[in-house]
Amino acid sequence: MGKPKPRRPDRPAKRKFNGNQHAGPTKKMICEQDLRSVTESIDASYQNIIPHVPTSPSDLRDVKTSASSVKLKQQTPDVVLDKEDSLTGFRFIDLELLIEFVQKLLCPECKRPIGENQRLSTVVEHRTNQASKVVFTCQCQHKVDFLSSKKCGKVFEANRRFPLAIFSLGKNHCGAKRFLGNMNMPPPPHKKSWQNHKKQCLKATRTVASECSSQAVAEVKTSKGTDVIVSVDGTWQRRGFSSKNGVVTVLSVNGQNSKVLDTVTLANYCNVCAKEKNSLSEIDFQQWQAQHTAEGKCQKNHTGSAGSMEPEGAERIFRRSEEKHGLRYTHYLGDGDSKSYSRIKNADPPVYDGVEIAKLECCGHVQKRMGRQLTNKVTELKTTTFQHDGKQKKGIGGRGGLKKAGILTIQGHYGAAIRGNVGNVPQMRKAIWAIWEHRNRQHTNCGNWCPTKKHNGVDPNKNSLPSYIMDAIKPVFVTLTDDSLLQKCAHGGTQNTNESFHHLIWERCPKTTFCGRDRIELAVADATIVFNSGEIKRTDIFVELKMEPGFYTTMCFMELDGARIQRAEVQGTQKVKQQRQQRALDNAEQYADTEEYYLSGAHE
Ligand SMILES: [Zn+2]
Ligand SMILES: [Zn+2]
Ligand SMILES: [Zn+2]
Repeated sequence: MGKPKPRRPDRPAKRKFNGNQHAGPTKKMICEQDLRSVTESIDASYQNIIPHVPTSPSDLRDVKTSASSVKLKQQTPDVVLDKEDSLTGFRFIDLELLIEFVQKLLCPECKRPIGENQRLSTVVEHRTNQASKVVFTCQCQHKVDFLSSKKCGKVFEANRRFPLAIFSLGKNHCGAKRFLGNMNMPPPPHKKSWQNHKKQCLKATRTVASECSSQAVAEVKTSKGTDVIVSVDGTWQRRGFSSKNGVVTVLSVNGQNSKVLDTVTLANYCNVCAKEKNSLSEIDFQQWQAQHTAEGKCQKNHTGSAGSMEPEGAERIFRRSEEKHGLRYTHYLGDGDSKSYSRIKNADPPVYDGVEIAKLECCGHVQKRMGRQLTNKVTELKTTTFQHDGKQKKGIGGRGGLKKAGILTIQGHYGAAIRGNVGNVPQMRKAIWAIWEHRNRQHTNCGNWCPTKKHNGVDPNKNSLPSYIMDAIKPVFVTLTDDSLLQKCAHGGTQNTNESFHHLIWERCPKTTFCGRDRIELAVADATIVFNSGEIKRTDIFVELKMEPGFYTTMCFMELDGARIQRAEVQGTQKVKQQRQQRALDNAEQYADTEEYYLSGAHE
């Protein structure tokens, strides 16, 4: 069996059969105890999970919640774990110990220990990557097999699960190698069969993801009909225009229940093509490339810069919406002056025959305009002199004037006024002017945020500003209560939902290493499943790959969903909201002299 193995210090060098030790009283007690503690730890972890993840969705909905946790809860389907299934799944096993164990067992044929007289040739391992078949041959020539993994179709389950697990962590072949190396485990499949595993994982994940989108489409149709508002945004693997891969995402706008409807992944580069181009003559290359593209192996599906990916992807998604989903995306929610919107609006032939696509604003971006415009006002009037209480005042900022913290608070109230009056523009306008009036010592239209509404004894004019400042900033309020602007915000939606979806994508496919389009599509599909239907829906990927998801896999996904719901709930509590506001203020102080703060987060 090749090189001599290093000796384990805790064991005699020669393997000697010492009788059936499991019959001995001491060992037996230890075994039982170990087993009991294992069962208890399973019990404990099992119980830990149940309180976080109530087993029925109706239980979940009863808990007092923040808005975003409501969405997550509605996703959680009924899943009940059967504790009897806990004796399933894989374990890390030290093969040496397994061999030692089996050799102590009696051969069913000759009734003597299989490993008697320690003949080395009696144990042979046939390994296919992460799965092993260990064959023990007794001196009487009787053979006993041990298979470390079930099969799913033609491949071993262990070999299918492993790449899927590595991909879900956002790692690739190299990461798989490192992991196995550190665990003293045999290496992953070679690159070529790794590619094949990736293909299968992508196929299965895509199937489940398209189910999740169809479900989201059905929900939208039920609540909004077939002409709907969508939020459109792009994300790139690398910052700036050097990125070779980009993803365009289209989400429904449905309060806290926004979901992914469609995505397009674009790549303007193919690794294989680039390699072949260097090694073949021009004519040979063209011939080769035609074949390569025809076989669907080319990763490149976009000609042009990274900047042109968003308009291109958005148009593809809009054009196929009727055929794919039976929906018309008649209202486009996106950045202020988006190239993608003008591309869709001016498309020839028109995207939807005889239907105008209207542009809506992202309430988050509009909210930031308040901060930016007030800051600009402060800067603009820095050297202007005002008369106040018989004194001369320079500018409107600084002590007793409009400071960063105040601007941020006004911006926050402005956003809340928009989001709190969805679908009611006159009410929205009234609520926005109330912010101005409040600072101007009039409290008739104030909301619950005003001290006069809370408890007596607090000076209601604590945060009021001198009238010359109020006059100076009035034009900002006039601009930002403009009727056509508020109409475009009446939906109350933001692109934040796209942003959190993008975050899920790059968690599954890091931005730091270049990869092909298929790898990104895998990440996008996986993220779609989790975003629309929760982690638990990923169990369907395993079913697609013809294997049982299994007890511990299901348990893990339930726990992940539970943790996500809890996090969303914590995010929604008063204390955390205050902490967040404080952090925003600290940031504002930090960037006091720059525009960066108000611009940050606006776009990637
Ligand atoms: Zn035998
Ligand atoms: Zn190619
Ligand atoms: Zn007030």
